[in-house]
Amino acid sequence: MTSTAPAPAGPVATCARPGADLAAAVHAVRRDLTADGHAGVDEAATVAHRLVRLAEHYGNHPFTPLEDARRLLDVDRASFSRLLDLFGRLPELRHAVENGPAGKYWQNTLLPLERRGVLDSALAHKPAFPYSVGLYPGPTCMFRCHFCVRVTGARYDPSALDAGNAMFASVIDEIPAGNPYAMYFSGGLEPLTNPGLGVLSSRAAARGLRPTVYTNSFALTERTLARQPGLWDLHAVRTSLYGLNDEEYEETTGKRASFERVRANLRRFQQLRSERENPIRVGFSYIVLPGRIHRLLDLVDFIAELNEAAPDRPVDFLNVREDYSGRENGRLTEAERTELQEGLLAFEERVARRTPTLNIDYGYALHSLKTGADAELLRIRPETMRPSVHPQVSVQVDLLGDVYLYREAGFPDLDGADRYIAGRVGPGTSLAEIVERFVDDGLRIAPHGGDEYFMDGFDQVVTARLNQLEADVAAGWGDARGFLR
Ligand code: SF4
Repeated sequence: MTSTAPAPAGPVATCARPGADLAAAVHAVRRDLTADGHAGVDEAATVAHRLVRLAEHYGNHPFTPLEDARRLLDVDRASFSRLLDLFGRLPELRHAVENGPAGKYWQNTLLPLERRGVLDSALAHKPAFPYSVGLYPGPTCMFRCHFCVRVTGARYDPSALDAGNAMFASVIDEIPAGNPYAMYFSGGLEPLTNPGLGVLSSRAAARGLRPTVYTNSFALTERTLARQPGLWDLHAVRTSLYGLNDEEYEETTGKRASFERVRANLRRFQQLRSERENPIRVGFSYIVLPGRIHRLLDLVDFIAELNEAAPDRPVDFLNVREDYSGRENGRLTEAERTELQEGLLAFEERVARRTPTLNIDYGYALHSLKTGADAELLRIRPETMRPSVHPQVSVQVDLLGDVYLYREAGFPDLDGADRYIAGRVGPGTSLAEIVERFVDDGLRIAPHGGDEYFMDGFDQVVTARLNQLEADVAAGWGDARGFLR
């Protein structure tokens, strides 16, 4: 999920960033165009200017339909088609888009999906085994986080565990070879409340899969690890942190003394993985709340302390996100932007000093902010949700075998979420068959107001991309649909 090769530092490769030297970029592109004979001397300046504008635009606004970009440049279709062709001939322009403020969308999600043809299947309404399968094995959760969409107290009956775990094993066996990251354990509820998680992890590893478990780590005790040694076969344990002391934890999760327990679990986990020389990766998800950016410094100290428990195996990764959700238009105020930018600088300085090997993923919005730009905000509404959804891209399977089409829908008894169940995996019915049936039968789910909350960030990106691609194809730009792929 991190950046690919560092961008070359020339004016073209950086032209999508705020404050770029656009004149120098146009000059360099013009020189390349004439040197390679792609444009005559008289037209090269105009063409170069338009190409740089395209790079700048798609480096900031990746979901723009091609017709909108054409209108923005105010050129006819033939000229635009030529521009697209020339754009593809100058790799530095592509680099500019991939490393622009919105580069994370391109690098982390859109281009990997394009490379595997996953979006093509969704666009053509052809069945395909889902590119990403989330298994939601937890029958319950020990926390009651106030923001959690989980209906208070909702849980699966423990009697569902045996059949559920047999069903999960069959889904793991179905996953086609060739994509080790095709599957993960998450929720829904808390995966570690399923006593069969270790066995499932071993099964997945034996099939060449590298699953991450998304957990709150409250139950990641030495005892759990002794009972479920298969947990050591996981690729990574990603702990969602809900604060950095007991008070913050209690405020969020409703559980007393829970932070200290999570901290003790993780410290011991660090020691054990070091002793066992186990390659399992350890990392965190942390959400910065408005006005709380300074807590990131304490987060670094917390991670540095964990590193002291196993100096040869420092914590591997950290995913930081911010939460804009309370705002009407989703935009940060100027003061909040400045505060966040300054906070991130101080954070990076402390990381360099105390946890220099930590791999940090800032996600779409914070990455943009770090470059000084406003992130393109994805505001998928019921009107722009896709009734055919995108099971070729991702599905989630809960303990009952129900196949949910959006990542935040897989909670028991969540109002309206059952409309997003494509079918149920069980004896005699595979996941591939459920997807095939849903797609081949042309099933459609008419979105209701509020359904957008069933989507997580990934679902939103995929939806925005598919809408963009459909608009491109409908406008006769099928060959170039999506701008980059
Ligand atoms: S957010 Fe996660 S940890 Fe918190 S109550 Fe919901 S499922 Fe449990």
